[in-house]
Amino acid sequence: MPDKHLVDKIVIAEDDPITLLLLRSTLEKWGFVPENIEDGKRALEILKAAEDPKIVLLDWLMPGRDGIDIVKALRKERGDIPHYIIMLTSKNEKKDIISALEAGADDFLSKPFDTDELKARIKVGLRLIGLHIQLRKAIKSANRLADFIAHYDQTTGLPNRLYFTEKIEQQVASENSAALMLVNIDRFKVINQAKGLDLGDLLLNYFGARLQECFEEEAVVARIAADEFGILIPYGENSDTPVDDIIKFLYAKAQRIHTRMDEQFPIDEGITITVSIGAAPITYEIAREPEEFLRRADTALRKAKALGGNQTVIHDWKMEEEVRQRYQIERDLVEAISQEQMQLFLQAQVDSQGMFHGAEALIRWIHPEKGMISPGLFIPVAEESGLILRIGRWVLQEACNILKKYSGEKFSISVNISPKQFARADFVDEVISIVMDMAVPSERLILEVTEGLLINDMDDVVEKMTRLSKAGFRFSIDDFGTGYSSLAYLKKLPISEIKIDRTFIKGLPEDENNAAIVRAIFLMAQALGLKVVAEGVETEAQARFLNESGSVIHQGFLFSKPGPAEDTLEYWLNR
Ligand code: C2E
Ligand code: MG
Ligand code: MG
Repeated sequence: MPDKHLVDKIVIAEDDPITLLLLRSTLEKWGFVPENIEDGKRALEILKAAEDPKIVLLDWLMPGRDGIDIVKALRKERGDIPHYIIMLTSKNEKKDIISALEAGADDFLSKPFDTDELKARIKVGLRLIGLHIQLRKAIKSANRLADFIAHYDQTTGLPNRLYFTEKIEQQVASENSAALMLVNIDRFKVINQAKGLDLGDLLLNYFGARLQECFEEEAVVARIAADEFGILIPYGENSDTPVDDIIKFLYAKAQRIHTRMDEQFPIDEGITITVSIGAAPITYEIAREPEEFLRRADTALRKAKALGGNQTVIHDWKMEEEVRQRYQIERDLVEAISQEQMQLFLQAQVDSQGMFHGAEALIRWIHPEKGMISPGLFIPVAEESGLILRIGRWVLQEACNILKKYSGEKFSISVNISPKQFARADFVDEVISIVMDMAVPSERLILEVTEGLLINDMDDVVEKMTRLSKAGFRFSIDDFGTGYSSLAYLKKLPISEIKIDRTFIKGLPEDENNAAIVRAIFLMAQALGLKVVAEGVETEAQARFLNESGSVIHQGFLFSKPGPAEDTLEYWLNR
């Protein structure tokens, strides 16, 4: 009994009814279901159209076309289908055998034939076409595997970036409304480092599965970068869905994702994460390019990250303007420093009696065309591009210049230090060398750092602060209360001052929450022996409340607006 898949692989092309009958009954006895063709022309047609190779028992002499002709045509036109052709003939001279083989036949059988010989020859043919069929199957599944590897992510089994962009292209070509969402796991790198790559991969797996749960079948959920997933969401079969509808829908979906991801993941002893989401509707007012829609979703995602993560931002046009501006700022900033467009402003700090106490250095950029640009706009750009290092050095030098000029006075200047600056290995040496070069006493400089710094490498922070404080510098915690507040670090670090962020001063004294927070800060500062500076004091009522709460230095528009350094000092020192 032949293999199941080879049962119907024999074709008998024979016009002699007796031979045909004989062959058929023999083959059927062995379990084959042969196909019979009695005409040469027809045999060629059928064999040419076959998708699998067959064993062909081919009569040399037939009406229509003779056997040699058929073999030649088959080999020429369907070289890809290696039919195993056994010529049947009553000719059995050597030269006949040779001419059949040369025409392309595989074997030769003389009539009348012996059934054992027929069987043996068919067996050879079966083995060869069987091999060919298997090989083709293997190639097909290898192609399928290659396709899988090219289009799917091996870790999560989800479609990958390539597949995802192909899907976006198809979606955009259909011109039906849709939306794109990019979901990024916040602080995934930290999780990976802390828990190891295997657990990281496991988390990605669970994450991908949960993400899929949040969407209907027709949405494509893909992993497009290490910790970034993309979702293409078709929105009905039309091209003019109002954008507002899509945006509402996106917010609802995003909410569902945030809620689902808030649940603990069953990994290790339980892992919790947050995600940032950027989304963009796909509608066809202006843009038609798939990359353009992806870029919009990415812009929104970056914004969600920049706002601190754990939130959703949906693309709008204001955002584009911001991106453009930021880019422009970065370009102009490079020249700004060398072309001396930076200016140091000072804002006075006064005690409860309104007496001058010190000042904070606040940088201003006087742009040749745009005028004064606020540090709130360019400092983040400078931090991202690394230019903050040069700016930071410049501010320190300027502050020292002024202190030197007023060496007879006692006031101190507070200088903002960016976390990027502080993190540099040579930060301590640089600060000390600037001050030494200018021969300014380090006691007159206060270095303002933010709480954000303290989630970094704590040992490094302690080491640097300790060295600087031994060299005479003082430290102040800027924007106190808005970041990662922990009593532990206040005790551990050589800090002498905290600056209450102006969001807590706002609304005082009526705002009961803020009033309670401010009182608590005073208590804590007193216990730890820290000086308190209040930022953003704008009204008499705020100043009064602060004075009644404890010993405080005021910094705010009520007393002084930031102004050019020397103007400010001349004013306050001569009062
Ligand atoms: P900051 O260090 O918290 O500075 C205080 C900010 O509050 C200043 O904004 C100041 O003008 C503003 N301010 C002071 N009093 C009041 C008030 O009564 N009401 C209101 N509404 N605002 C008040 P500015 O000058 O725009 O600086 C913004 C931020 O830019 C600073 O916040 C600081 O983080 C950063 N920055 C400024 N100069 C530098 C610098 O030289 N280096 C670094 N790394 N950052 C700087
Ligand atoms: Mg400051
Ligand atoms: Mg501040």
